[in-house]
Amino acid sequence: MILFDSPNFANHEGVHAFSDEKTGLKAIVAVHSTARGPAVGGTRMWNYATAEEALEDVLRLSKGMSYKNAIADLEMGGGKSVIIGDSRTQKSPELFQAFARFLNGLGGHYYAAEDVGTSVEDIAEARKVTEYVLGLKDGPEASGDPSPVTAEGVFRSNLVVARRLFGKSDMTGLTVAVQGVGHVGAYLCEKLHAAGAKLIITDVNQDNLNAVAAKTGAEIVSPDAIYDVQADIYAPCALGATLNPETIKRLKVKAICGAANNQLATPAIGDALHEMGILYSPDYVVNGGGIINVASEMNARQNGTAYDPAWVEGKLSRLMETFEEILVRSEQENRPTYQIADAIAEERIKVAADKKAAALKV
Ligand code: NAD
Repeated sequence: MILFDSPNFANHEGVHAFSDEKTGLKAIVAVHSTARGPAVGGTRMWNYATAEEALEDVLRLSKGMSYKNAIADLEMGGGKSVIIGDSRTQKSPELFQAFARFLNGLGGHYYAAEDVGTSVEDIAEARKVTEYVLGLKDGPEASGDPSPVTAEGVFRSNLVVARRLFGKSDMTGLTVAVQGVGHVGAYLCEKLHAAGAKLIITDVNQDNLNAVAAKTGAEIVSPDAIYDVQADIYAPCALGATLNPETIKRLKVKAICGAANNQLATPAIGDALHEMGILYSPDYVVNGGGIINVASEMNARQNGTAYDPAWVEGKLSRLMETFEEILVRSEQENRPTYQIADAIAEERIKVAADKKAAALKV
């Protein structure tokens, strides 16, 4: 495959491959767009079967970050990085320090953060060598665990859906089926329960299920049964691609609103949900609280200030207005919600790119 011919290439500004013989590091950093600011996105460590698989993944995820950061109205572009390797056996402090030295070489075009297979501890290791990492645990600028803010955004999005679709001012009388009660799912369940929702939950981790059920009185079902339950809203908070041709036929809900990334197996599923009259809340809109939280750390770093919860709250409120705008436009234009969200993100990126080009007179 020639890089520029990949369907995922999508006019990336830069794609950088790095290797370090001593630590075994093999990494790819993809910078999709810096039109709105430095590219920000997590570092995934995964045992990809081939380098091509790693490249396709990083390109797809990097473009996704441009859209997520734009829709949240952050002064950040989109990027992502992957480290090829087994996160259980091939990690070392030296590996993350080597990765960090390469980030220094990119001179702030890209900021890395925690993602699947990497931890806050790995990021802290990289921070010893570079300032171009975010999502720290300690210090005045640190944004800490993003999960509570992500859950708050998903919860408020559920309230928006409840109001628009069911005429409710809270969640009383509504049943939400939550798939995955890990970091985000557990916080979400507590908030939904406090707002009066009845919960049906599933997970592959029994301890997580027991803890949430004890706090919220949720009904527990087996992982596969979650698609068949009688509920008003389905909240996927575990894996991606759970909305696929097989599962959407089984859903009995009126809306989907959860935290998981990449919920639609393909864009065609978004079209199908629209035709079925099931309101799909675009994942990268409703789960944007986490990246907003991280953005506050970047502001603090750049301005020499501290993490600012009030700024985070302002951005989250604005994101909820954008979510509502997407739902209104979807109804008015009879177009799937994911298409409206993409159109808004693309327009914001284009405006910023045009402004940047004008400033550079190119
Ligand atoms: P997590 O790993 O803490 O929780 C995921 C939960 O899903 C775990 O309890 C796990 O046991 C469960 N699970 C795994 N496979 C399952 C299956 N087949 N059926 C049911 N449950 C299953 O992760 P998290 O941080 O809570 O994130 C949840 C989702 O939200 C992920 O898709 C993540 O990418 C996305 N997301 C998270 C954040 C954040 O701030 N943490 C931000 C944006 C998006």
